Amino acid sequence: MIEVIEPASAEVMAEVPRAGAEEVDEAVARAKAAFPAWRAVAPADRSRLLRGLADGLEARAGDLAVLEARNAGKPIADARGEIGMVVECFRYYAAAPERLLGQTIPVAGGVDMTFREPLGVVGLIVPWNFPLVITSWKTAPALAAGNTVVLKPAELTPLTAIELERVALEAGIPEGVLNVVAGPGSVCGQRLVEHPDVAKIAFTGSTEVGRGIAAGAARTIKRVTLELGGKSANVVFADADIEAAAAAAPFAVFGNAGQDCCARSRILVQRDALDPFMAALERTVRSMVVGDPLDEATQMGPLISESHRETVASFLDGEVPVAFRGDAPDGPGYWFPPTVLEPSGNDVRVAREEVFGPVAAVIPFEDEAEAVAIANDTIYGLSGSVWSGDGARALRVARALDTGVISINSNSSVRVSTPFGGFKQSGVGRELGPDALEHYTDVKNVYYATEEG
Ligand code: NAD
Repeated sequence: MIEVIEPASAEVMAEVPRAGAEEVDEAVARAKAAFPAWRAVAPADRSRLLRGLADGLEARAGDLAVLEARNAGKPIADARGEIGMVVECFRYYAAAPERLLGQTIPVAGGVDMTFREPLGVVGLIVPWNFPLVITSWKTAPALAAGNTVVLKPAELTPLTAIELERVALEAGIPEGVLNVVAGPGSVCGQRLVEHPDVAKIAFTGSTEVGRGIAAGAARTIKRVTLELGGKSANVVFADADIEAAAAAAPFAVFGNAGQDCCARSRILVQRDALDPFMAALERTVRSMVVGDPLDEATQMGPLISESHRETVASFLDGEVPVAFRGDAPDGPGYWFPPTVLEPSGNDVRVAREEVFGPVAAVIPFEDEAEAVAIANDTIYGLSGSVWSGDGARALRVARALDTGVISINSNSSVRVSTPFGGFKQSGVGRELGPDALEHYTDVKNVYYATEEG
């Protein structure tokens, strides 16, 4: 059995059966058997079934939010927002089956047309930081396009994925179309990657594991989409609304206790505005409410595990000065206070590696060119922000940053209807919006001869 731990108390909150390679093989066989019938479901009927799934999730949204808040250690208000997005995501892609359009292409001697065909069985591998929300970004377009799914949640947070499978069956989605296998990545994830009957892997997780998945998938020429790590920059120019930028910055890196691939963990501030920015930032960080995820007032919960807390703590190595820290409860639970560091530049470990915890590095810059150079000086390219009162400059800098997602005068990263994904070593492919469907289909070209010879 997997003992599922509640990070705020460090106590076991549930036990679920631990799947191994054999269970993965069985799930793939079920998904393979279910595929011909699922792809043949009329588009309007597939839409109706996915809308039913969204309705079923909405009806249980309160319970799902509590489950997610307890298991992932996230504030209940955030968990509610995430379950809202899950419902929205299934509704958005429920409209897709009737909109998977092909083309007709003028050719000699006949008619040429394209179709977007489902891939078959797709393997979805999901991390622990946004368990159900990231599950929905993959499951909804995969099912809408006519694929069947084997879903492997993170071992630390399998509970809401198991609920999703249950709600899908209740909504009338046929057995075998959505199969959940909860087990270790090195066993279950790896088996999915190797399995000859799995056509595609959609993975979200660390860049390190993503590299292994890309290599493993190459053996059977699987399609692969990867959503990996980040080291995003929050670029604040002196002509910005400094109070607004400083009030928002902590939530862009300490949200989800920093366990967010989009965390803007490098805060680049134009030197002329550094003092007022730091003063405003300190006020916000010191007043952050860190505590019980089920308390409505909580803004930040614990880290996911003790071993992860040790990794995060290793970034406070004494070499980089600490500017200030907020408060956090003492144990039990994996607590870590929001922490702001002032490195001398961008070449120290905390500015180069993904911390995945509530640790921000504030780095000053002189001018636009230096801001762009520092922001781009990373192997990652997932997210980021530009704060400026000069619209032309903000847009110029947004275009110059090598990153898949960027916001101006805002720290938002994700909307169901717009593409999300990384440049460079932050990933391959896009989730959400219309683009995601392309990654769950292949294009078929059909030529129909209308003239003899
Ligand atoms: P992880 O890479 O350790 O695990 C992710 C998933 O992969 C889990 O389900 C795990 O069991 C599985 N896995 C582990 N080893 C495997 C293997 N050898 N073969 C197949 N599957 C394997 O990541 P994590 O610690 O769960 O999540 C944190 C990471 O995820 C961070 O790096 C973060 O940036 C990244 N992330 C990225 C995005 C994004 O959209 N770009 C979103 C959220 C998290």
